[in-house]
Amino acid sequence: MWLTRAISNKSKINNSKMLVIDERSLTTCFCRKTKRKEKEGADSSASADSKLYLEATVLERKLPEMDIKLLVDLPAGLDYNEWLASHTMSLFDHVNLVYGTISEFCTATTCPDMTGPGQRTYLWFDEKGKKTKVAAPQYIDYVMTFIQKTITDETIFPTKYANEFPVSFESIIRKIVRLLYHVVAHLYAAHFKEVVPLGLHSHLNQTFAHLMALHHRFSLIDSKETDILEDLEVALGLAQNSLEVGNNNEKKDEQDGAEEGSIHSTDDTCGDNKS
Ligand SMILES: [Zn+2]
Repeated sequence: MWLTRAISNKSKINNSKMLVIDERSLTTCFCRKTKRKEKEGADSSASADSKLYLEATVLERKLPEMDIKLLVDLPAGLDYNEWLASHTMSLFDHVNLVYGTISEFCTATTCPDMTGPGQRTYLWFDEKGKKTKVAAPQYIDYVMTFIQKTITDETIFPTKYANEFPVSFESIIRKIVRLLYHVVAHLYAAHFKEVVPLGLHSHLNQTFAHLMALHHRFSLIDSKETDILEDLEVALGLAQNSLEVGNNNEKKDEQDGAEEGSIHSTDDTCGDNKS
């Protein structure tokens, strides 16, 4: 189970006192949290525009480009939905691990809005389909709770032999991947300054690379969502140039048809994902 892995990985990280996190705090990280008073009030808006994550010294990641492309390539004979399910669950684990590590710095005070780079703000759709402005930790709690609930739902992510994936499976995967992208975007925009001292930036970059490789291979996220981190994709060498990013997105736009104009919110109707 992912929590076990999160704990064992965490124990290897350096001796910073913020990492003295017991199992209870991890298992409650969806509805946390223990906060450090001295960090509340820290200015997160300044880092949103400085783009520390584009600096050459923090662009390392763990696997070279070709290995990432091979990682997401569907092996012959393997079921497409199984493949998507496997990668999505893995991405959820890793995003949750990184966010869980810095979550004490993500509070209603430091992050009153769910932001991404470039002043992007995400709004949550409540159970009545109404857009709601929520603080980042609340938004991410909704996201993680929704995904956890979804991937453990036997009718959506079947594990028993006789059960099959629902016809809506791919659209559910798209939604999960998009919501994970929002969390990653927030980590880069608001918490990279906390990620780097922990030495987790290469892991975050790797997770982002995995997410984008999966997206580029199967066209999972709308270009109006992914434009905010295109510069990071280029900096990390995930796209040969901006043209590749653009081409992929154009293809996706054709498939999706018209969507909302300028997306400054999720286009989700997450009626069942509030805890
Ligand atoms: Zn935050």
